[in-house]
Amino acid sequence: MAKPIVAVVGRPNVGKSTLFNKLIGQRLSIVEDTPGVTRDRIFADCEWLGHTFLLVDTGGIEPKSDDVILAQMRRQAELAIQSADVIILVVDVREGMTATDKDVASMLRKSGKPIVVAVNKCDSIGEPPAEFYEFYNLGLGDLYPLSAAHGHGTGDILDAVLEHLPENEDPDYSEEYTKVAVIGKPNAGKSSLINRLAGEERVIVSDIAGTTRDAIDTIVENEFGKYVFIDTAGIRRKSKVLEKIEHYSVLRAYMAVDRADVCVIMIDALEGFTEQDSKIAGYAHEAGKACVIAVNKWDAVEKDDKTMMEMRKKLEKDFSFMSYAPIVFISALTGQRLNRMFETINEVKQSNEMRITTGRLNDLLGYCTARVQPPSDKGKRLKIYYMTQASNKPPVFVCFVNQAELFHFSYQRYIENQIRETFGLTGTPIKFIIKERD
Ligand code: GDP
Ligand code: GDP
Repeated sequence: MAKPIVAVVGRPNVGKSTLFNKLIGQRLSIVEDTPGVTRDRIFADCEWLGHTFLLVDTGGIEPKSDDVILAQMRRQAELAIQSADVIILVVDVREGMTATDKDVASMLRKSGKPIVVAVNKCDSIGEPPAEFYEFYNLGLGDLYPLSAAHGHGTGDILDAVLEHLPENEDPDYSEEYTKVAVIGKPNAGKSSLINRLAGEERVIVSDIAGTTRDAIDTIVENEFGKYVFIDTAGIRRKSKVLEKIEHYSVLRAYMAVDRADVCVIMIDALEGFTEQDSKIAGYAHEAGKACVIAVNKWDAVEKDDKTMMEMRKKLEKDFSFMSYAPIVFISALTGQRLNRMFETINEVKQSNEMRITTGRLNDLLGYCTARVQPPSDKGKRLKIYYMTQASNKPPVFVCFVNQAELFHFSYQRYIENQIRETFGLTGTPIKFIIKERD
């Protein structure tokens, strides 16, 4: 199911980041954070009264001159209007209503999107200050006093957000369909791939009437199975302007990752690896999804018999945080090796769903600890009593040990690699939970 999106907009220094952090404060992540990917996190899951939505910080405004701020604010608001289901506009009661606030409010009002106005820095409990009421002039209806710093008022704001959240508008695909998200930078060739698949096979384009987002999924059935390619490229109503904004394409990727079983991370072979690729791939990794790296435009690369191996080696380094992901070299244009891509999609999906019995895991554990002695510190040696798989999609293994800090990363890595080798877990992140037991 696609999570609804709630965007936070507002001038610099009104307290957006403070609010963002307050709202996601209790977020629990199943999959460990990826170094280098989460530093400038702009989305996070937020839960309130049993509803989960994706909170988006549209951020990124450098307080320069007023003109620049206004221009950036407009872009920020445009982004929110295009992508969000509900928008929280944050204003600052200490500064009062500014011309920029008014301008942005008018854009937001015209969009018809539900807006929740949070009047921040109302720090004292009780009646808000007189300045609070001037924000009614924004013409956006109810105002919510907030002190993001202290946390007062966040509950009412979340209640207001929930009131406006859309019903689940996702089409239900039956289990037999593998949901695939093709994610990657603008111009990597995502729409070309999907258009090509759509051209060759029986395709139903599901147009979800009356939705706020223009998701168009493509159904592909072929000798490899049944697939739904989740719309990430905005094939029909591609907004060229927005597509150029990294924030927007990353957000699209993130939304699609959420709904997918398998993520195909598409790299442009002509450009090679970029930071944005690693960020996008990082979301798939964090979300615990099965992954395939597809190097596209292979037809256009000048190559000899070593080129593929060299590129593979380089990508393995670039994507070292997901070294489990198989790499395929394809051409959306010529259709080269798309069969191999489908086979790989099936493989990684199977790994992601795999369940391994406790008996087989512990046989392997016995073999591993006999072959490489567990680490020890100050005369105390790590004992792994037993291991069991707690869940799948992605596989999560719980290890019961005598002392958690003895279970060094390198030994975990060793066990992980042995599990991968033995059970053929390619293309899926796996996760360990270490529990102490006497
Ligand atoms: P952003 O630029 O909109 O993301 O604003 P920040 O969250 O970075 O906050 C800007 C400044 O306002 C920081 O110094 C915060 O500590 C302060 N601030 C944020 N929320 C509140 C609040 O509720 N009350 C007060 N007094 N200060 C706040
Ligand atoms: P998207 O933004 O990721 O959806 O990328 P597009 O599908 O719009 O493709 C961007 C450009 O790359 C277009 O000009 C395509 O024709 C070109 N392109 C896509 N796939 C291939 C490919 O496999 N080989 C070559 N040579 N060009 C490609």
